Amino acid sequence: MPADRRETILILGGTAEAAAIARRLVAAGADVVTSLAGRTSNPAPLPGRIRIGGFGGAEGLARYIAENGITRVIDATHPFANRISQNARLACAAAGIPLERPERPAWEKQPGDDWIEVESLDEAAAALPAGARVFLALGRQHLAVFESRPDCHFVVRMVDPPEKPLGFAGYDLILGKPSVNPEEEADLFRAHRVTHLVCRNSGGEAGYGKILAARSMGLPVVMVRRAT
Ligand code: NAP
Repeated sequence: MPADRRETILILGGTAEAAAIARRLVAAGADVVTSLAGRTSNPAPLPGRIRIGGFGGAEGLARYIAENGITRVIDATHPFANRISQNARLACAAAGIPLERPERPAWEKQPGDDWIEVESLDEAAAALPAGARVFLALGRQHLAVFESRPDCHFVVRMVDPPEKPLGFAGYDLILGKPSVNPEEEADLFRAHRVTHLVCRNSGGEAGYGKILAARSMGLPVVMVRRAT
């Protein structure tokens, strides 16, 4: 790239890591656009420019790259957000620009962890014992599969309230974000008499508070593995 042309970096975001990368690059003087899917109504402020909403598949993303003079893409989306990551690979290859995918290693089971490792959310639902009080640490688009377990009570945390009641026979709704502080997560689990946690092996610091809390309380965790 000619020395007089500044890079324009597109960060595919929606995660704590993406926000940290945006802060670092903007502080270093880069021209940065962070893209959010638009899942939360009030996203936390970010440095640099922000755009919100889907691109319209890999082709839409390639078009966005061309029309906005993007010179580099950083895919810092959630490790289970496979569709946008695949679109990013296709669009960057088509546009002939570099794509970076920062590593976010999966969590590894530690002494004291009681994990039931499964391959899918369907398997997670099937693994729950009758009568369990289950904290579902999952986005709202992943809850429906647990409606097959009316014999369990669910505890669900969301950033924004749901538009209509959830499809569970019995559930508690918590409005808020995960805490990195395991004691706060443990207080929440105790207050709702949680017996099991269900989550995906996302890795990273932001969601680890609940794993530490489950360890300290001896709670079983139904952990959905990453696709290999
Ligand atoms: P996904 O299944 O891979 O994406 C579904 C569609 O949403 C994509 O095809 C794309 O639509 C759009 N999309 C996803 N991420 C986008 C982004 N950063 N900017 C613009 N459009 C985006 O992803 P998902 O599992 O639904 O997750 C959606 C977003 O939420 C991701 O950005 C992810 O990083 C974030 N997320 C964060 C957490 C967290 O704990 N912080 C957890 C889960 C997800 P088009 O095809 O129309 O472009």
